[in-house]
Amino acid sequence: MSLNLTTRLPPRALLSQATRAGHRSPRGASYLTKDVPIRQFWRNSQRSAQAAQAEHLVHDATNLGQLDGKPAKHVAVNIDGDPRIFDTVFLRDSCTCPRCVDPDSRQKLFQTSDIPQDLEGACRTVVDREKGWMVEVVWKNDIPGYGAEHRTRHSIDWLRRALTTELELRGGVRSDERVLWDREKITNNNKWVDYKDYMAEDEVLFDALSHLNKYGLLFLKNVPESEESVVDIAGRIGTLKNTFYGRTWDVKSKPNAENIAYTHQFLGLHMDLLYTSNPPHLQLLHSLRARSPGGESLFSDSFEAAHSLHHSSAFHFRTLCTFPVTYHYHHPTHHYHHTRPTIELFAYPKYSEPTNLAIRHINWSPPFQGPFEARIGGENQTALRNYLAAANAFEKLLSAEENLYEYRLEEGDCVIFDNRRVLHARRAFDASKGERWLKGAYVDDDVFFSKLRVLEERYEGRWIADGVVRHAVK
Ligand SMILES: [Zn+2]
Repeated sequence: MSLNLTTRLPPRALLSQATRAGHRSPRGASYLTKDVPIRQFWRNSQRSAQAAQAEHLVHDATNLGQLDGKPAKHVAVNIDGDPRIFDTVFLRDSCTCPRCVDPDSRQKLFQTSDIPQDLEGACRTVVDREKGWMVEVVWKNDIPGYGAEHRTRHSIDWLRRALTTELELRGGVRSDERVLWDREKITNNNKWVDYKDYMAEDEVLFDALSHLNKYGLLFLKNVPESEESVVDIAGRIGTLKNTFYGRTWDVKSKPNAENIAYTHQFLGLHMDLLYTSNPPHLQLLHSLRARSPGGESLFSDSFEAAHSLHHSSAFHFRTLCTFPVTYHYHHPTHHYHHTRPTIELFAYPKYSEPTNLAIRHINWSPPFQGPFEARIGGENQTALRNYLAAANAFEKLLSAEENLYEYRLEEGDCVIFDNRRVLHARRAFDASKGERWLKGAYVDDDVFFSKLRVLEERYEGRWIADGVVRHAVK
């Protein structure tokens, strides 16, 4: 049977000794650490802020009747006044001592599966000069190869963060920084960033990428007239995404174009590369020539439209969440194929509630649709008609005048947008009257969010991963 042991912090124990008859004497020696003997620490600190905090961490173990130092499978640590139970497997697995995590590569030096299934740990509290109060665990049945001297230490701050993260993940809380927009809102909130500032200053980059994350749309101006500029802009974020269109690609009118984008025709609202398994997160378009009349760019927030659709018809919304749409790129030398529903929600059940619409992705790219393959009749005589009605309602919202933001990219402009959220379109242009030339590039989601987290941690001490806000701790 595993027992829940409680780590007791010494200052309260010392106080208890004075006030409560029969209370066990603190075993001073066991509270000594390599760094600071705890009694000495307590005497010297004279109710320092840290000691005051420590009193709140104390959990009275009387009811559990266990001593510090007895090994068990689970331990209780008082965090913000309440005993919190941790599995010692978690504490062992997350050990960051130099024998467990390589200090240089930060890679783990053992496998979770190496941990013996009958692992037990004995906990006590220690004080670290830099990290404050910590829980120190001595192991019984440690991973083979680790000697009796192996200790695992976790700061109270770190344990608190782990607990908060666990609760938020379990509770289905999703932190979403996206701000949905219609034409009026984006017109008032658009951000224009000077190329030189974007390239030179990390704070400007952070501001720009935060904005891009919120609105899915960002403009750079004064971009140098070079085919490599878009590479430099993407490079500030990270490695650009190579595709069969090339590392960068040109959007200009050409005869017998293999893609409708390479014509002068109107190109409706769409997303790029939905026929691949991980479509690009960001798309960059740098205007090198804008000398033909027309060719205005149009943008629409598909997440805003999805919320509106849910509001007007939950039935249509559900239809778009389930009906499979095929996307393909079927050419002699390239054959891509992927089927996805129009709206993808995060898997947690709460997210289907109207007040908590956690949309993971919208997929909308009519020019690259292939023939429907499932639910084309037979046993599903109403499915396709339901999809048609829902797609029609969704399209009306996407292309409604009040939802469309229109902008004509001038030479030296570069737009960056979230290809999984903000649909883009182009008005027809008159190729006979002058040249229109955009240079494009893509950046993957992992690359973008990695850079955003690095900057968030540096400037704000917090970042978001898996929808949960994380804070830097000691
Ligand atoms: Zn270790």
